[in-house]
Amino acid sequence: MLVSAKEMLNKARDGKYAVGQFNINNLEWTKAILLTAQELSSPVILGVSEGAGKYMAGYKTVVGMVNGMLEELKITVPVALHLDHGSYEGALKCIEAGFSSIMFDGSHYPIEENIQKTKELVKICNEKGLSLEAEVGSIGGEEDGVVGAGEFADPNECKAIAELGVTMLAAGIGNIHGKYPANWPGLNFETLAAVKEKTGNVPLVLHGGTGIPEDMIKKAISLGVAKINVNTECQLSFAAATRKYIEEGKDLQGKGFDPRKLLAPGFEAIKATVKEKMELFGSVGKA
Ligand SMILES: [Zn+2]
Repeated sequence: MLVSAKEMLNKARDGKYAVGQFNINNLEWTKAILLTAQELSSPVILGVSEGAGKYMAGYKTVVGMVNGMLEELKITVPVALHLDHGSYEGALKCIEAGFSSIMFDGSHYPIEENIQKTKELVKICNEKGLSLEAEVGSIGGEEDGVVGAGEFADPNECKAIAELGVTMLAAGIGNIHGKYPANWPGLNFETLAAVKEKTGNVPLVLHGGTGIPEDMIKKAISLGVAKINVNTECQLSFAAATRKYIEEGKDLQGKGFDPRKLLAPGFEAIKATVKEKMELFGSVGKA
């Protein structure tokens, strides 16, 4: 059964580790992530962007697929199904469809409007027992066509949003979606420390987990980050493994064209990436 992300993130915050959010795109992605979490006895959050939800034929399809897998694969570790960077309307649709966790990304609105909309969703999510993530200060890079400049969040604005009763808070600290450019200056730990100081006990979320050096990840966790989002890295490892299979001509040998064979190396590559991240984040054995 899907659970809210609240308990797993509060435990992570107290235990000084982070729970990974891994975004899903299809059946192979979902199965790879769930099986790895179960094998490593780690809590996990499945992220679904609005674009990915549309790609997978709608939120109800996603909920049906994930719930089916939890039962058929006998997944017993805590799993949250989370809308990633949701609009207000998207959040309502996912709540209706049966998601257990919601991110409302109001970072592109003026702060008053972000506060107002987040407040309304806090009320709805509380009534239904769902976790809610809010965002202050846009994350750099591109997410489903929305390009953010990578601002540093204003700690006072973070405080105002945290006080609404959100479950977890994403604050921009120089992190970027996708691959990091060679001249990236790194995470801004002064901003992170200031946000932590103002927001107290609210677990913090680090978006754009692909390619952040290990020491920065560990430092971010020590400063209050309890959820780290990984998306691009699984895409890169899936693509590389699939490319290798085809370049080696394996799809032309015997029944190598069978999608269950053709997609197997990519599936294994996602599993390896998720394992690596769970070990780095410290969530192994924490289910
Ligand atoms: Zn993000």
